[in-house]
Amino acid sequence: DELISQIAAGEVVERPAAVVRELVDNALDAGASQVTVRLLAGGVRLILVEDDGQGIPREELPVALRRHATSKIASLQDLEAVGTMGFRGEALAAINSIADMSLLSRTADDAHAWQLDGRTGELKPAARSQGTSVEVRELFYATPARRKFLKTDATELAHCIEAVRRHALVRPDVGFAIWHEGRLVEQWRAGQGASAHEQRLADVLGNEFVEQSVAVHYESAARRPDGQPAVRVWGRAGIPDAARSRADQQFAYVNGRYVRDKVLTHAARSAYEDVLHGHRQPVYALYIEMDPSRVDVNVHPTKIEVRFRDSREVHQAVRHAVENALATPRA
Ligand code: ADP
Ligand code: MG
Repeated sequence: DELISQIAAGEVVERPAAVVRELVDNALDAGASQVTVRLLAGGVRLILVEDDGQGIPREELPVALRRHATSKIASLQDLEAVGTMGFRGEALAAINSIADMSLLSRTADDAHAWQLDGRTGELKPAARSQGTSVEVRELFYATPARRKFLKTDATELAHCIEAVRRHALVRPDVGFAIWHEGRLVEQWRAGQGASAHEQRLADVLGNEFVEQSVAVHYESAARRPDGQPAVRVWGRAGIPDAARSRADQQFAYVNGRYVRDKVLTHAARSAYEDVLHGHRQPVYALYIEMDPSRVDVNVHPTKIEVRFRDSREVHQAVRHAVENALATPRA
């Protein structure tokens, strides 16, 4: 079972940033309003993710580290409409098999926190306020071959920051902080209300991005049975002749989940070529909302790929959304 976990870990965890992504996913699933990430050596020596979410009850701490233990879905039907970031119950077990891990958690009902040592299984009383701290030390200590493929600390740190950035752009209601070697390297404060999202875009992507971009609002004509548009696309599309565009400034989300998808990338790129005839990289943050049963998120363990039931429908919606936005005259 140890070996199977390590093989699974190879799929989920290719570098420290993948651990950061999974732990922040879990913090958000737990309803956190503040998530703090502390790193040493680009995350290779230490990844500590602290949240103020609901916490893990004492008796569930050992269960959380077991493979295919998830508290989030109970049936295949739930998987059709999964509303949480996690659902496979693999991440903690996988990470525990390739690193020194501990869970420190306290629920609203606990008089104090409990700490679980992932290696020994020892459970002991500890101190912290409500929420969870997951500590991951010496990633890949057991798989030196993997460790050799890691890049410099600076590169791994950049990937870790990118992982948090992807969460930050879709959760302006949550505060995020990233510390590296004891220094605060990024901080994005939680916001509320209508302006919070724009403020978060400015904080994460820069004021220039917001100033040199246009709002995207689009609803497909087709309706779901409940009257909602089949596909809704919103967000902002940057004007690449003004912004210093880079390939890594393209953020797409499906039902709140960051995804990398050829259909979406192609649709956005086509819109830019049609309207602006430019060759530069488009810059955008696009949020696609659609019937969850028409998109499969359970394609790959990292959940970064999706499969659309009708990819033409999504392609058209994104293309029209971006075309309309870019073609609208600006003041
Ligand atoms: P998944 O997220 O797919 O359910 P994980 O392996 O990531 O699987 O986590 C296993 C379980 O541990 C979760 O289902 C959840 O019950 C619990 N858990 C993990 N991290 C946290 C956290 N930060 N706060 C509360 N519960 C957590
Ligand atoms: Mg998870």
